[in-house]
Amino acid sequence: MKTKISRRSFIKSGIGAGTAAIFSGGKKGSGMQRNRGKKVVISSANGQRATEKAMQLLDEGLDPLDAVIAGVNIIESDPEDMTVGYGGLPNEDGVVELDASVMHGPTHNGGAVASIRNIKNPSKVAKLVMERTAHALIVGRGALRFAKNHGFKEENLLTDRARKIWLKHKEQLSDQDFWYPPKSKKLESRVRSFVESHGTINCCVLDANGDLASVTTTSGFFFKIPGRVGDSPIIGAGLYVDNDVGAAGSTGLGEANILTCGSNMVVEFMRDGFSPEEACLRALKRIIAKSKLWPERLDSKGLPRFDVNFYAVNKKGEYAGTAIWKGRYYSVNDGKENKLKPSAYLFERP
Ligand code: ASP
Repeated sequence: MKTKISRRSFIKSGIGAGTAAIFSGGKKGSGMQRNRGKKVVISSANGQRATEKAMQLLDEGLDPLDAVIAGVNIIESDPEDMTVGYGGLPNEDGVVELDASVMHGPTHNGGAVASIRNIKNPSKVAKLVMERTAHALIVGRGALRFAKNHGFKEENLLTDRARKIWLKHKEQLSDQDFWYPPKSKKLESRVRSFVESHGTINCCVLDANGDLASVTTTSGFFFKIPGRVGDSPIIGAGLYVDNDVGAAGSTGLGEANILTCGSNMVVEFMRDGFSPEEACLRALKRIIAKSKLWPERLDSKGLPRFDVNFYAVNKKGEYAGTAIWKGRYYSVNDGKENKLKPSAYLFERP
């Protein structure tokens, strides 16, 4: 008879950590080498305040996951960032729906929420899913109820600015409906560029003990179909951590990333001995190879019309930010400097 073992007792018993070590051997094994007290925090370009804050908290001795969550909470709470948390652009019904996930290297545990409404800091709720339930992902109304049960305050996340942009988008959709065109042209060209637009923050960390963690949080695609879930709350796509190897996270076209389990792939390439940059670029190449099967996503030359970014740090403290297309940046704090760096890339636009 099979013995049933719950996820929580698996982790609590320490069997999880033991089996992780058994299965973690890589071809070249470079992922197994420890850092020598190196600390690194990396994030997407919108995360400069997050990398700064997380490093400060690591210096104060905080757990690496708590440090990166506190970092991204700054961006989630900022109404000016229209891609994450409060002030994020809404779905096609004008409602802000958020996705977030977290993963903690030392316990190989993770949690996520998707399509959650009215909660400003979904990354904190994702951590509670990890710590206070036997589940990995809770969505929609269930996620909201869970957050409220834990004392989170429900609030309207739609700022006036986001509402006006959504309204103009709606008024411009068609001239054959009952919505008149927008009265003012202001914002109009911006609104066009918002369609099919998106943004997210991922933040990965290696602390001085060699422990890793990652968090990804987003309001997802602007004007998305209500209920659409992107890659950010999907562990293995929006982020992945193996405490013996490294941490990776992603921003960009979520569907391409979900269909290739991108962040998991990056970590597996690092396990095979590739540097973070090589691992990320290899994963991007895989996405492009598979995107040949999605002709609607390709331009006339057969190149992707979309972008995906990976951010990764390995156990030795090597790190990278990468993108399909030239021109992207990522934020890094190596304990000495907090700076934006250009991402490595595969293609340059003519
Ligand atoms: N990956 C996010 C999503 O698909 C969007 C983004 O990162 O730009 O929801």
